[in-house]
Amino acid sequence: MILVTGGAGYVGSHCVLALLGNGYDVVIFDNLELGHIETVETLKSIQASGKVIDFIQGDLKNLSDIQNVFKKHEIEVVVHFAAYSQVAESMKNPQKYFSNNVDGTVNLLKSMIENGVKRIVFSSTAATYGEPIYTPIDENHPQKPINPYGETKLKIEKIMDEYDKSFNLKSVRLRYFNVAGADNRARIGEWHEPETHLIPNILKSTFGCGKTFQMFGTDYDTIDGTCVRDYINVEDLAKAHVLALDYLEKGGETNFFNLGTNNGNSVKEVFSVCEKVTGEKIPVDIQPRREGDPAILVADNQKAKKVLGWVPEKTLEDSILSAYNWAKKLSK
Ligand code: UDP
Repeated sequence: MILVTGGAGYVGSHCVLALLGNGYDVVIFDNLELGHIETVETLKSIQASGKVIDFIQGDLKNLSDIQNVFKKHEIEVVVHFAAYSQVAESMKNPQKYFSNNVDGTVNLLKSMIENGVKRIVFSSTAATYGEPIYTPIDENHPQKPINPYGETKLKIEKIMDEYDKSFNLKSVRLRYFNVAGADNRARIGEWHEPETHLIPNILKSTFGCGKTFQMFGTDYDTIDGTCVRDYINVEDLAKAHVLALDYLEKGGETNFFNLGTNNGNSVKEVFSVCEKVTGEKIPVDIQPRREGDPAILVADNQKAKKVLGWVPEKTLEDSILSAYNWAKKLSK
């Protein structure tokens, strides 16, 4: 049985789908503060034949909540997504982030050790690198986060190193770049309230809903003045988690990998692919830069390719099309 914390959230739910498709039995643990019960219900309704999926509502901040999961199920390995992930919010309220992300993870690790569970795949982030000093960013790039969100993820990576030394707990830390897209059958997708991410925000200005997309900053030192990001498809990303589990199951040591495409796209490029995919002229307002946005963030993904055998397959257009199909469903 695999425990997926945060399995009712965006990346977590797509990972659950991939795990079920690969024959794993899954228990989802989520407090439903940001995750959605509808997502859990959808996952339960499409479970692969013969696979077990259980949902336990609970909060990692309450040690007994997570200890009870280990009492109820024989957990072999954990995939850990549950976390707050809004950079701006983390700058306003760092305590909330340290308490939930770091203390919550310590409770999870404690429960794992109590129950002899020694393998974890952890949802980390490119935000642990901070302002890039070179690009594309490989795993040797210094980790110097510039916001509390990135700091919490880096702290957790370091705590996991200590748990390896003290308890032989093996972790794979997957450092995501910009996750995009949805299930290709639009059964689940990105569902944040409020939404801060680029692609869903552009798509929200379609359907003639009268909203205008706000483009933050056109004076960066990039090809067209807008920020460049590496958009990795959520289904490709989910596959990397399955490969990371295989890696750990085969006795792999603690390790960390960038998950991105090796390619960058500017905000203007993403915007024009959205117009192409939707066939709509999308209203846009040029705004000043958003605080804390580095000009360029692109992954060097060679290590994940070499060690995990991971090859992202979807294009930016694929991601935008699936996000659009999901956004249409969500807006109904
Ligand atoms: N962005 C934008 N308008 C929005 C949301 C995002 O112009 O409504 C820009 C943002 O300033 C950044 C890029 O899109 O340059 C990607 O932002 P996002 O929040 O999706 O991801 P981040 O790179 O911050 O993790």
